[in-house]
Amino acid sequence: MTYQGLIHRYGQYLDLPAHTKNISLLEGNTPLIPMPRLSAELGCELFIKFEGLNPTGSFKDRGMTAAISEAVGRGAQTVICASTGNTAASAAAYAARAGLRSIVLIPEGKVAAGKLAGAIAYGAEVIQVQGSFDDALTLVVEITQKTPIALVNSINPFRIKGQKTAAFEICDDLGSAPDWLCLPVGNAGNITSYWAGFKQYQKGLPQVLGVQAAGAAPLVLGHPVEKPETIATAIRIGKPARGEQALDAAQESNGRIIAVSDEQILSAQRILAAEGVWVEPASAAGLSGLLAESTVGKFEARGKRIVVVCTGHGMKDPSIITESFQSPKVIPANYDALIDLIEE
Ligand SMILES: *Cc1c(COP(=O)(O)O)cnc(C)c1O
Repeated sequence: MTYQGLIHRYGQYLDLPAHTKNISLLEGNTPLIPMPRLSAELGCELFIKFEGLNPTGSFKDRGMTAAISEAVGRGAQTVICASTGNTAASAAAYAARAGLRSIVLIPEGKVAAGKLAGAIAYGAEVIQVQGSFDDALTLVVEITQKTPIALVNSINPFRIKGQKTAAFEICDDLGSAPDWLCLPVGNAGNITSYWAGFKQYQKGLPQVLGVQAAGAAPLVLGHPVEKPETIATAIRIGKPARGEQALDAAQESNGRIIAVSDEQILSAQRILAAEGVWVEPASAAGLSGLLAESTVGKFEARGKRIVVVCTGHGMKDPSIITESFQSPKVIPANYDALIDLIEE
């Protein structure tokens, strides 16, 4: 039978309420891509879980199929979320699919072009808030407490349930959990989901390396960050809603949460692209953390099986490329100019 989406495939592990009405865009089932060159350099077996290949270009679709399916089933007509971009695009797409109204609050001027375009294309009512993601989330929580509008941020428990499926898929593909799982941490829903998923699936447990951007690293600093700053906009979050659970996952797994600089993130983004996997900046944080730790001898990759989660597609944030990569040269339309340039 052809693939029918995550609730169909893993619904038995998700414990969704009986009223749930399956709304799917055939999310999930993303590839676990081997990285032979990086593996050889690090002396390990390294795979990328490429979540950028979900229907709206990020892992958020895993949680959104569950959250929207539950909301529709209980009669919700409008959904709302705060978003650094990818949640907005995903909520908008699944709401469109279900015939619901969607409202998304984003921090003014801080959302990557490909994400904003997606949310608008899928028909969301996009509202820019003069503040951070954390300010937008506070507003969303308040309005969903006072009105029947359904909240689909990752404080919605069904988002976490849906996102556990990525851990299930990794175990199914590898036959067991990897030795290490490396991933970016923003609002900390994803790390919480992976850890819950691995524990539930009982195919072994990885050690977890969670990676924040240095300018938005509340879990490393041990306190909220009032004005988070990083080019990795998807993890530009100063007060993670599931921060405690993220710290628990790191500790229970005998792993840790670390911070890397924007330069290190952009460098990891280039390294991934050089092996054929183009991801948005935040998505490169996992590899960036692994490389940073290996370089200073704090991470023994040798002989290990490592999965690095790349959470979103490079096409989400095209503007970063002109800044971080070389921009194309211009020539007149003649052969001599072309041959001169490529033989330079
Ligand atoms: C949402 C998001 C993250 C952060 O995930 P959290 O669950 O908020 O920790 C990282 N990368 C991308 C591309 C995202 O969209």
